[in-house]
Amino acid sequence: MKKRIFYAILMVAFTTFSLSAQRTILHCGKLIDSKSDQVQNSMSIIIEGNVITAVESGYTKGKSNDTVIDLKDKTVMPGLMDMHVHIEGESNPNRRLNQYIQNPADVAYDAQVYAGRTLMAGFTTVRDLGGSGVNVSLRNAINAGKVVGPRIYTAEKTIGTTGGHADPTNGSNAHLMGDPGPKEGIINSYDDARKAIRQRYKNGADVIKITATGGVLSVAKDGQGPQFQMDELKGIVETAKEYGFVTAAHAHGDEGMYRAVSAGINSIEHGTFMSERTMEKMIEMGTYYVPTISAGKYVVEKADVPGFFPPVVVPKAKAVGPQIQDTFAKAYAKGVKIAFGTDAGVFPHGDNGKEFIYLVEAGMPAMEAIKSATITASQLLRIDDKFGTIEEGKMADIVAVDGDPIKDIMAMTKVTFVMKDGKVFKQ
Ligand SMILES: [Zn+2]
Repeated sequence: MKKRIFYAILMVAFTTFSLSAQRTILHCGKLIDSKSDQVQNSMSIIIEGNVITAVESGYTKGKSNDTVIDLKDKTVMPGLMDMHVHIEGESNPNRRLNQYIQNPADVAYDAQVYAGRTLMAGFTTVRDLGGSGVNVSLRNAINAGKVVGPRIYTAEKTIGTTGGHADPTNGSNAHLMGDPGPKEGIINSYDDARKAIRQRYKNGADVIKITATGGVLSVAKDGQGPQFQMDELKGIVETAKEYGFVTAAHAHGDEGMYRAVSAGINSIEHGTFMSERTMEKMIEMGTYYVPTISAGKYVVEKADVPGFFPPVVVPKAKAVGPQIQDTFAKAYAKGVKIAFGTDAGVFPHGDNGKEFIYLVEAGMPAMEAIKSATITASQLLRIDDKFGTIEEGKMADIVAVDGDPIKDIMAMTKVTFVMKDGKVFKQ
């Protein structure tokens, strides 16, 4: 008798629990799941907690305590991923001065605004390719639910060589120039490379970024020459591998790019003057290309605004900017793997979606462009077991745009619904 009562209580408890297990059901007019190449019509996504538990055709009727969200006039897709942002800052004419007058707390207050804007633009995951270290704290604060923003996979501080694109004291007076080393991400040997990687690990980085060639926005003359020798690149790649880091190389000139690809770097950023030989090597090595056409377009535009960039930057912006989109078109046609990335921070955060327009303009079909920002990006970050598609068992990072981006790619700049980790942030 006692036993029977016990079971009865257990049954009541169980029923109450399963009744209260809150589900969210999304009614999707159109669905791009990033698995198939087809847009599916009239679909439902069932979410429990932060996990997708089912994807069903038709509009599934919810139980009384389910939350049903009507997205019947929208196109629903996996949360977008930008593989190249700098979440801590934004270009402006005072950029150089800010380096000397801002405290980390100032950077942090700015960065949380940029993070919020990025998420509202539909980017639920970003790879942050270099800042001061505030990016690590921001990632932690977002993960803890204290600040609104995307999931951040950060490189913490970019690794470069003395006087190279990532040397933080370039253009400083002799008093401030100093001699930064591996701790600050500046290396000049295999051993330095090893230490710089281990320091990033200690500082809380998720990924590694190097500047394999000169760059546009640094206060240095050369934007294209190689800045790492093979032993230094080997030090980077071999050590990074041991810590499970995905590696990215900023590169404009071809020689530095080719060396980085040969050493086994996982992605080439910008890739401005990429040769056929390098494209072939990338296909052979499985290297991803992250074009960042948006940054190229933006620096060309701003190069004509007097005082926006220091004089040494202007000719580099004009040489590099217009080339990136052409290089992307060639690399894509040749079969190089493309992962979506914008270099947001060079231009205002939140405008990341414009990159879709530039990709399509250069010959990439809209469906492929969306896949580059979802499934392909998740493969580059090695998180495709949990993210990048809409299917049973994946995390509920889901966004929607008004209209049909396959017919009009402009739709990707108007994200009207954002869910991250099963929570609605924009509706
Ligand atoms: Zn960048």
